[in-house]
Amino acid sequence: MPKSSAKPATPKEQPLRIAIVGTGFAGLGMAIRLQQAGIEDFVILEKAGDVGGTWRDNHYPGCACDVQSHLYSFSFAPNPEWSRMFSPQPEIWSYLRKCADQYGLRPYIRFNSEVQSARWDEKAGLWRVQIAGGRELSAKVLISGMGGLSRPAYPVGVRGLEKFRGKTFHSQDWDHGYDLKGKRVAVIGTGASAIQFVPQIQKEVAQLDLYQRTPPWILPKPDRAVSDFEQRLFRRLPLAQRLFRGAIYAMMETRVLGFTVNPKIMNLVKRIALRHIHRHVKDPELRAKLTPDYTVGCKRVLISNDYYPALAQANVDVISSGIREVRAGSIVGQDGTERPVDAIIFGTGFHATDPMPKGVLFGRGGLDIVDTWKDGPEAYKGTTVAGFPNLFLIVGPNTGLGHNSMVYMIESQVNYVMDALRKMDAGGVRSLEVKPEVQARFNGAIQARLSRAVWTAGGCKSWYLHPSGKNTSLWPGFTFQFRRQTRRFDLAAYVAEPAERKPARAAGPELLVEMT
Ligand SMILES: Cc1cc2nc3c(=O)[nH]c(=O)nc-3n(C[C@H](O)[C@H](O)[C@H](O)COP(=O)(O)OP(=O)(O)OC[C@H]3O[C@@H](n4cnc5c(N)ncnc54)[C@H](O)[C@@H]3O)c2cc1C
Repeated sequence: MPKSSAKPATPKEQPLRIAIVGTGFAGLGMAIRLQQAGIEDFVILEKAGDVGGTWRDNHYPGCACDVQSHLYSFSFAPNPEWSRMFSPQPEIWSYLRKCADQYGLRPYIRFNSEVQSARWDEKAGLWRVQIAGGRELSAKVLISGMGGLSRPAYPVGVRGLEKFRGKTFHSQDWDHGYDLKGKRVAVIGTGASAIQFVPQIQKEVAQLDLYQRTPPWILPKPDRAVSDFEQRLFRRLPLAQRLFRGAIYAMMETRVLGFTVNPKIMNLVKRIALRHIHRHVKDPELRAKLTPDYTVGCKRVLISNDYYPALAQANVDVISSGIREVRAGSIVGQDGTERPVDAIIFGTGFHATDPMPKGVLFGRGGLDIVDTWKDGPEAYKGTTVAGFPNLFLIVGPNTGLGHNSMVYMIESQVNYVMDALRKMDAGGVRSLEVKPEVQARFNGAIQARLSRAVWTAGGCKSWYLHPSGKNTSLWPGFTFQFRRQTRRFDLAAYVAEPAERKPARAAGPELLVEMT
């Protein structure tokens, strides 16, 4: 990875060319590409005190990626040192910190700088960004890398939860200072995070009550240590690592066939998953509780080798009948059984279908982006939104994946933004805004495709679905199709306002010209 000695030029009072929000894979990936293109007039605003996003914030026991590390990393920054096929969180976080250092990004980053709001100033053609602590800046282009899974979701409507006097925390805010040893612990939720931390804490706690609404389908995890020989090979022969990455990508990509083309393919996956339950869970009653009744893939397919063995231990109870109420020191199930607990851990995931809080992003006419998304978030190619000029969302609506690496999607979007910036420069463009009819057509097409896919038709209720019933989270096809669609910035889909304005004419919609 190259070292950069460049110093960003960011005089506070001058409008910047670009402001990036967030330092996860999206924000860092975007910044690296800008820097490689010789663009230095940008800042990265990060609310926390270090880089890393998801991999800084999620440090619960057992946290790891569930896409192989050789693929779940930047294509331009291969890491021959991955210790396992699915590396643990500390390694992924350290990889992202290393990327920030080696590409010389830290001088561009303003830590502890939460974006409280960003408003499009139509007259000036600038984003006015308010930062925590009363600071502000302006930028021509705003790029959000604020994350799709970064706002923790808590269970709603659980009676008496506020009366609980014991310890509570969400998996994303794990309290390592709280000793779980010998405690009676309730875990609410059985999603991707819970199946990673439950086997870790089961060994320590006196009693673990696992409150499960719907069981996930779980496959064996093809995890293993990466051997010294492989690490040496990848270090000396980067092509070998690229080929390995390519092979993993191709294997993961074939899974789309079952998700979107023919759900019958999922029958084979179902057989493997059922065998996995049978191998590790001998008790027929527990087996029945852990066996899903919906099509494989409808909810995120999870991978684990230690979850089922942990649930089969004597100190674990799986409660699938729901919670009637929480009391000061106990939880009462729907069946009336009262179970005393010292701590409740929420493994209840994230605000996936409303990733953007209200009151943060205001576009043309002061419109809050959340108010334009009443039927669920939508964007054009997951990146641009009508009414929000010069705004690019990385990991925006319908860019999520149930089958492959998000870093691949992020790099596709970064490519699209880079080409947009090039075209703005070349065409003397002041602002770009996707045409509403283009955005509507695009979303009509992907929603039609999604309505036939297993996520909608598979007989489950998942976090992919917005309360309106629309799947606003996932990309409905092969990721290489998304890559193809984002390879070039399609100016024809946008209204472009020229940079040079004739002073005699007033600013307003009549000035907008269409560039094709
Ligand atoms: C536990 C877990 C495991 C996962 N495993 C995988 C996996 O194996 N494979 C996969 O493909 N995907 C996985 N994902 C999805 C993962 O979120 C994405 O792959 C990817 O990390 C998203 O990167 P991001 O940069 O878009 O967002 P994030 O990593 O969430 O980063 C967002 C950043 O924006 C900052 N920010 C947010 N709001 C503001 C604000 N207002 N002002 C300033 N800064 C702000 C945050 O502090 C954060 O640093 C996982 C997610 C979780 C939660």
